[in-house]
Amino acid sequence: MRIFNGKVNDRSGPDELNGGGRFVMSRKDFVPAYVRAFKDGVLQERAEQAIESLRSCCVCPRDCEIDRFNNKIGVCKSGRLARVASAFPHFGEEDCLRGWNGSGTIFFGWCNLRCVFCQNFETSQFGEGAEVTAAELAQIMLDLQKTGCHNINFVTPEHVVPQVLEALVIAVEGGLRLHSCITHRLTTAWKVFSGWTELWTSTCRISNSGTPSIAENILSPAITPKPRAQ
Ligand code: SF4
Repeated sequence: MRIFNGKVNDRSGPDELNGGGRFVMSRKDFVPAYVRAFKDGVLQERAEQAIESLRSCCVCPRDCEIDRFNNKIGVCKSGRLARVASAFPHFGEEDCLRGWNGSGTIFFGWCNLRCVFCQNFETSQFGEGAEVTAAELAQIMLDLQKTGCHNINFVTPEHVVPQVLEALVIAVEGGLRLHSCITHRLTTAWKVFSGWTELWTSTCRISNSGTPSIAENILSPAITPKPRAQ
């Protein structure tokens, strides 16, 4: 696992990005949505419910209904714990995400989609990385904050939404105050994340509206997600 532990960069940022104060919100005035949810007790409640839901997992539209709480494995090959492949200040994201200190990116191992064209194939299909406890995942977030990253960027977290929520509670208790964002596709998980993340950078990879055969070829018919009522 590659965890970046660089020096804190205390630069306030280039003047041209400030826009005369119009574009940059002072961090002292900023209260992340998940901190507000934590103060209301909502974050803890959702985290507990999400972890309980692992006992018959329907975290994503695969609806495997297997007991991940006791490490049974479904389509995404993930058990009770999240797997982290890497975490580091990412300078390959869009300018508004990477800023001048990088986006605090956490890449999760395994995936529930199994796209044949995945750009992170070793991570998503071979499970690159190591399992982490909630406390360890929280510490990764805090390390990224200490490094000076502008945000915490969860990459392809849909299959580990419960584990992220569980870790976020610990991270908030430990002083996490960066805003959070979600990169890459989520389907049903946005309902769980909504209310405590500020930014979504969704990518539409495929759609089965009008082209079901293409979607099935890419995902493999045996693992095509079950349709759900909205
Ligand atoms: S693919 Fe994974 S996250 Fe999705 S329902 Fe199956 S076990 Fe749960």
